[in-house]
Amino acid sequence: MNVLPATTNTLDLIGHTPLVLLEGPSEAAGCEIYGKCEFANPGASVKDRAALWIINDAEARGTLKPGGTVVEGTAGNTGIGLALVANAKGYKSIIVMPETQSREKMDTLRALGAELVLVPAAPYKNPGHFVHTSRRLAEETEGAIWANQFDNIANRKAHIESTAPELWAQLDGRIDGFTCAAGTGGTLAGVGMGLKEFNQDICIALTDPHGAALYNYFANGELKAEGSSVAEGIGQGRITANLEGAPIDDQFRISDEEGLKWVAHLLREEGLCLGLSSGINVAGAVALGKKLGPNARVATILCDTGFRYLSSLYNREWLQEKGLPVFDWLK
Ligand code: PMP
Repeated sequence: MNVLPATTNTLDLIGHTPLVLLEGPSEAAGCEIYGKCEFANPGASVKDRAALWIINDAEARGTLKPGGTVVEGTAGNTGIGLALVANAKGYKSIIVMPETQSREKMDTLRALGAELVLVPAAPYKNPGHFVHTSRRLAEETEGAIWANQFDNIANRKAHIESTAPELWAQLDGRIDGFTCAAGTGGTLAGVGMGLKEFNQDICIALTDPHGAALYNYFANGELKAEGSSVAEGIGQGRITANLEGAPIDDQFRISDEEGLKWVAHLLREEGLCLGLSSGINVAGAVALGKKLGPNARVATILCDTGFRYLSSLYNREWLQEKGLPVFDWLK
């Protein structure tokens, strides 16, 4: 039997996530599409990895000391990861989040013992934006560090050192393409850089939601956003430090409707309850698989659990309010 050995440290439970061949997406693409089950992390999202690497890095640099505080601005998942890692290591956590994020994420952060600061959603150039608010709070709080997930490259290092080698090992070195969406860009850039260390020929593609500027940037050098998306945690308007030098070979733009179609399929036909960024990633992986051809093997990220979105993505009224199609079984 292939099992992980027992461990004495709960932080060892971060990463080492399963990889699953997705039947419907593979059929649609005409090749093998795999999903990396990041919802299986202790904080139920891909961001546990970045949280662990950021805190370990701050300890190694000596900026985070015993009894210290970790402050971060986040769409939610990074906050959940940071709060859990901080608890396990004896630190406090202060999390700044836009009030537009899901109710479940807010309740979860409070339940984990993080101090939650909600701010109105604002453009990045506005000083009230959650990222700037968190930086100021970190400066004003004694013994605090600012995790700074967008521009702290300990974030992408997590994926260079853990996610990419896991994918390579799980697929016995036979992988032709990888794609995912970008929030901070840590997953896309880190997995891309890590996989290219194994094989330069692996095609790394961005899957961008509508309303983000990276698709245009990688297609024609112009940082320009078009349309909008309700997906949480993805959609970037600038080149973060994590995205700098990312080895991007191709790019796809995916609508919320297309992502929702895969969310519905994966739940009702493959038994996986996921968030919308996972559905958008799977749509991108299908597009990449079609392009790479029938013998290709493509991997993507199943970013977080759908249980985090019961009051939004899986709620009839919310879907109607956003003008999105309501899942058949919720009608
Ligand atoms: N999906 C979800 C649900 C997320 O919370 C995030 C993190 N913001 C991502 C995808 C994107 O990950 P990254 O920050 O590594 O680009």
